[in-house]
Amino acid sequence: MGESPKTTVSVIKADIGSLAGHHIVHPDTIAVASRVLAEGKSKGVIVDYYVTNVGDDLQLIMTHRKGVDNEQVHELAWRAFKEATKVAKDLGLYAAGQDLLSEAFSGNVRGLGPGVAEMEFVERPSEPIIVFMADKTEPGAFNLPMYRIFADPFNTAGLVIDPRLHGGFKFVVHDVFEGKEITLNAPEEIYDLLALIGTPSRFVVRKVLRKSDNEIGAVVSVERLSLIAGRYVGKDDPVAIVRAQSGFPAAGEILEAFSHPHLVAGWMRGSHHGPLMPVGMRYAKVTRFDGPPRVVALGFNVKNAKLIGPADLFDDVAFDEARRMAQLVTDYMRRHGPFMPHRLGPEEMEYTTLPEVLEKLKDRFVETEARKAAKPKVESELLAHKSQSEDVD
Ligand SMILES: [Mg+2]
Repeated sequence: MGESPKTTVSVIKADIGSLAGHHIVHPDTIAVASRVLAEGKSKGVIVDYYVTNVGDDLQLIMTHRKGVDNEQVHELAWRAFKEATKVAKDLGLYAAGQDLLSEAFSGNVRGLGPGVAEMEFVERPSEPIIVFMADKTEPGAFNLPMYRIFADPFNTAGLVIDPRLHGGFKFVVHDVFEGKEITLNAPEEIYDLLALIGTPSRFVVRKVLRKSDNEIGAVVSVERLSLIAGRYVGKDDPVAIVRAQSGFPAAGEILEAFSHPHLVAGWMRGSHHGPLMPVGMRYAKVTRFDGPPRVVALGFNVKNAKLIGPADLFDDVAFDEARRMAQLVTDYMRRHGPFMPHRLGPEEMEYTTLPEVLEKLKDRFVETEARKAAKPKVESELLAHKSQSEDVD
């Protein structure tokens, strides 16, 4: 049996510790992860790789012929993170090994902590892809840009004028709380789609497919560390892969969706809303209030499963105004201090350390006089209601 003629792009990421707080990955951890992937390449597990980081997240961008969810490829990534964690511990880096929730690898990194975005396709003669990597936010942060890219003609001109895009796209939306999925068609069902993905903490665009032939257009990592671990262990900073050109939105249409620095959840302690700032690699680090949340975009061409590139796509003055607006929004949001909507709402805070603080105050609450006074009345009404229902029986 030969290997698949198809190419798989796997982007697997984890926060295995960082320098001076949750700021940036240490170069020594990148070096050791690169060494592990080089070994994997020489053994034929993968064809090519590129190791990089945004903020405190280490990203392994790999190409191979083994399809998605391949055990050998996932095991290689797991080993790279484990080796990098050893170095992180030796260096005393902050939160070393934070995203690795298990000691042992068991066939697949999904559910063990790392975030995964993978897609398999037959390469076009020219196969441009863009890998998005974000820090200090969650997978739902990509909902709005994915909608803009694949469903909004005010963003993507090709939806109107290119016959290959005109048929629209299918969105596979993942309910991260229930572990369920639904597929919705754009443009026919965009109101239903928006009714879901407007709640990015729960409903996450996991995949986008071209409607005419089911060809994969985009994939987003959907792991939510807090729900996997049952306690807060850091926001699951997401990655995404988007195919560009020739039957898909143009690279510039894909990037255009990030020209508006929309508000996302994450930032300081994974507990705040802030603007998603598109930056070049040189600013792929988080400082102010551990942020603001950042996204980088690396463009590659995939040829015979080799990665050509990358191009650092947000490293352009054309995104200066988006960054400036993100700075203004940062100032505006920060002035709210510990108040919502800068701080996340109570459902999301459940996975942070806030419940411990609230627990301490629980016994100091006393019933108000008004409530005491109202109680006998409420109780007698309840009794009356109960006896009425019994009468009906
Ligand atoms: Mg991070």
